[in-house]
Amino acid sequence: MNVAENLKTVHQKIAESCNFANRLPHDVTLIAVSKTKTIQQILPALQAGHRVFGENRVQEATEKWEPLKQNYQDIDLHLIGPLQTNKVNQALKLFDFIHTVDRESLATALSKKIPDSGRTIGLTIQVNTGEEPQKSGILPTEADDFITHCIKDLKLPIAGLMCIPPVTDEPTPHFALLKTMVERHHLTMLSMGMSGDFKWAVRFGATHVRLGSAIFGSR
Ligand SMILES: *Cc1c(COP(=O)(O)O)cnc(C)c1O
Repeated sequence: MNVAENLKTVHQKIAESCNFANRLPHDVTLIAVSKTKTIQQILPALQAGHRVFGENRVQEATEKWEPLKQNYQDIDLHLIGPLQTNKVNQALKLFDFIHTVDRESLATALSKKIPDSGRTIGLTIQVNTGEEPQKSGILPTEADDFITHCIKDLKLPIAGLMCIPPVTDEPTPHFALLKTMVERHHLTMLSMGMSGDFKWAVRFGATHVRLGSAIFGSR
């Protein structure tokens, strides 16, 4: 597993998809998803100059990234997994971005705690585009009201939306739906696309792709 090689390949593929879609590679941020990977496995990505990472769990991320941040100060760390309200304080200390605002209680907790955290945090709202019962995210039918509520009432720094299409579905209708929603709310950020489908996500306007196995190998 050569992480530096993989990063190069992935950047190349993103550039190809951008070219196809008449977009600039510069407008797509690659989030290297390092969940379940050890510090030793993450280091080659850092040594190759990569700085944007994604993690699923607050506790695991704290254990790995507190020490790593001592040596690399310019890390941009994204939480891409579900966030329990009792972990909000810990998450706000570590992460720069939270992709998974998915319910009222979490939105309220964030609105109370972000101002006191003294940190600049960005957020996306997770939309359960496939309406899967086991998956978190706000349902598409409830998304418009929730987005407006988060922005207007709670004054949350919502940059855009995030989705994880059902594994068994063709992902493109989900990407298209998310893009429509982002445009309707005059937002800019589209967090969509994983190792198996990022080529399509980029064509459909993804600004942030979240890739784990394509960079670090299978989990
Ligand atoms: C694990 C995970 C990814 C990365 O998945 P790969 O298929 O390994 O690229 C992306 N997004 C979320 C929300 C994840 O949990």
